[in-house]
Amino acid sequence: MPVPKNAMEIYKHLDKSNCRDCGEKTCLAFAGSVFTGRRKITDCPKLDQEIIHRLPGESKEQRTLEENRYEYLEILKKEISNIDLAEAAKRIGADFRNDRLHLKILGKDFSVDTKGNISTSIHVNAWVAIPFLNYILSGKGILPSGNWVSFRELKDGKEFYPLFRKRCEEPIKRVADVYTDLFDDLVHIFSGRKVKKQFEADISVVLHPLPRVPIMICYWLPEEGLESSLNLFFDDTADKNLHINAIYTLGAGLTHMFEKISVRHGVSSL
Ligand code: SF4
Repeated sequence: MPVPKNAMEIYKHLDKSNCRDCGEKTCLAFAGSVFTGRRKITDCPKLDQEIIHRLPGESKEQRTLEENRYEYLEILKKEISNIDLAEAAKRIGADFRNDRLHLKILGKDFSVDTKGNISTSIHVNAWVAIPFLNYILSGKGILPSGNWVSFRELKDGKEFYPLFRKRCEEPIKRVADVYTDLFDDLVHIFSGRKVKKQFEADISVVLHPLPRVPIMICYWLPEEGLESSLNLFFDDTADKNLHINAIYTLGAGLTHMFEKISVRHGVSSL
């Protein structure tokens, strides 16, 4: 069985009864804990022995989140070395020159060579590098339609929305609550674009983590006893250009980047 790409890959093998026998409130929470290395897959008493033995490493030695991510990244790089990169560039609307495929990620140059070696002008974590390579390998290159939908409205998004909410939308909201310059910085640092009010939000910013997979962050300020709130929206073509797993990973990657920026700007109370 391949290395789990994210918590969803683990979740799909669980009983999904939310019985709490493992001590976690839900099977989703348990999957997240296993993926991040805080729990062992064997802590779920309802899991079939056969599945435990098929999941790589978990039954014998606990893999760390970093190991999982970097091993999967290496697999993707090998896959890149087996495809016609010039053809892939044509398919996804990227440039191909000097034996490299070039794309903009968050407004910055990002390229990969025919051996899968990545070169970039900004530090991009594996969470973002993984969807980038997935996009090259299997993206259809469909142009955005301009219709914004939530994660749960994308293909297979409903089942995994609770995890997405917990790992992406809630942490970004916590950043936005305390780091008031977040949205201005997203515009300046990541070539984001403030857009007219969407879904009655107080602030709406569109980012392009991949050229044809825009993400819109909408933030509602707190008012009269109501808490602030934040949602991410995707173009309704996103699931044609990236599998839902990769969309989740991309959201998690952006979340890590925003958390890091806020810490760099002296915000520590997340
Ligand atoms: S023990 Fe297994 S089935 Fe029960 S909540 Fe935990 S992960 Fe889910």
